Amino acid sequence: MADTVDVVVVGAGVVGASVAYYLAREGIKVSLLEREAIGSGSSAHATGFISLLGTEFAPGPSFQFGLDSYREFPALVAELESETGMDLLYQRRPSLRLALEQSEEDLIKDLMTWQKEHVAMHWITPEEVHELEPRLTPSLLGAVYEDESAQLDSYRLNLALAAGAERKGSQTIQRKVTGLLSDGNRITGVRTEGGDISCGTVVIAAGLWSPLFQQDLDFPIPVGALKGERLLLKYNGDPLPVLISSPRRGHMISRLDGFLSVGSTGGRDYDEDQLYQGEDMDRVTTQRARVEIMQRAIDVFPDLENASLVQQLAGSRPLSPDRQPIIGPVPGKEGVVLATGHTTKGIHLGPITAKAVTEYIKGGCKKVPNSIEMFLPARFEGLTQADFQTAGLDVDE
Ligand SMILES: Cc1cc2nc3c(=O)[nH]c(=O)nc-3n(C[C@H](O)[C@H](O)[C@H](O)COP(=O)(O)OP(=O)(O)OC[C@H]3O[C@@H](n4cnc5c(N)ncnc54)[C@H](O)[C@@H]3O)c2cc1C
Repeated sequence: MADTVDVVVVGAGVVGASVAYYLAREGIKVSLLEREAIGSGSSAHATGFISLLGTEFAPGPSFQFGLDSYREFPALVAELESETGMDLLYQRRPSLRLALEQSEEDLIKDLMTWQKEHVAMHWITPEEVHELEPRLTPSLLGAVYEDESAQLDSYRLNLALAAGAERKGSQTIQRKVTGLLSDGNRITGVRTEGGDISCGTVVIAAGLWSPLFQQDLDFPIPVGALKGERLLLKYNGDPLPVLISSPRRGHMISRLDGFLSVGSTGGRDYDEDQLYQGEDMDRVTTQRARVEIMQRAIDVFPDLENASLVQQLAGSRPLSPDRQPIIGPVPGKEGVVLATGHTTKGIHLGPITAKAVTEYIKGGCKKVPNSIEMFLPARFEGLTQADFQTAGLDVDE
């Protein structure tokens, strides 16, 4: 006879582990199934930057979702650290988004016209930038200064969420889910390599591997793999006092473990035919990315000529066609919720995704929370593969 739980979550990345944690916190009986290891997917490769700047968020509900998730972190991190004894290397700092060329200044100022209605930010001159950090390049046009940003270690966050969920009664099972069980239009559980598990609701949070389930659902789950590489450097000077990014040169963050993270490569660093790595993650580091990322970092912070390379990381992001997450019920099916396709923002948006999914399940799957209306899978009904091909081209973080 199949085991039975309230909810099966497929995939223990930051998104799936967040969902398990938020559900377990409400006393819901959860099994979190992971085919490889906790944090073995995209979540181990992320910078862990929780930033509202950049092009990922559009005006309106998308930005509000990002802001609400950013606001979840201080209490969530404190809770997880106290429950698990782990240090998530969380730092809440102002950030600077730098313009080194006119196109960057234009892009940043354009975004500011609406972003500053939600978050305090202002444009500062090169002199003001250098007062904050004199080691940055003299070739600056200015920067936007913003106070609502943070960064943490995404792998530690992932482990702490899964451990925290277990402490609250969730069960983590290392097993691959091979398919879905159904009874008519209702999904009733999962098939695994070690037997079936029946449940009230299945949450598919399998990152870029989520399309495995589209046949069982008879509905498209358009998630591809978008490669990204970044570097960890050892730099002997003082840490940077702010979190730094620029549209064309990526991020530069002094982590709390003393290493400096720089990168990442994104869509425009790859040829169109390399953007989609099929059904799997590309963990191969390349010399081309190493040289490119190092050069971009030195453009921003010339003294990094003296830094040494500690580690190069390569992984892939779960890319959706519009770069927005896919969250919510599948049209025509009951008992299943998608929480996938978070592209460049899965760490940032993990907690708020979990909050919305939990609200939906706790309410008996009757009413979709307003916060995820724009992320519903229904927007991809009838999608063809061709629509998918342009999404990753302009991913810069
Ligand atoms: C270089 C780089 C930098 C990034 N920087 C940031 C950043 O600064 N901020 C940010 O917010 N995001 C960032 N991201 C994006 C972020 O990493 C992803 O959006 C996020 O990790 C997605 O989380 P996930 O849980 O959906 O997927 P994953 O972490 O990939 O987790 C999915 C899990 O599902 C498991 N799984 C798959 N299929 C099955 C199955 N059939 N049965 C059981 N288990 C299964 C996998 O093994 C995996 O563990 C970055 C990504 C990269 C590559």
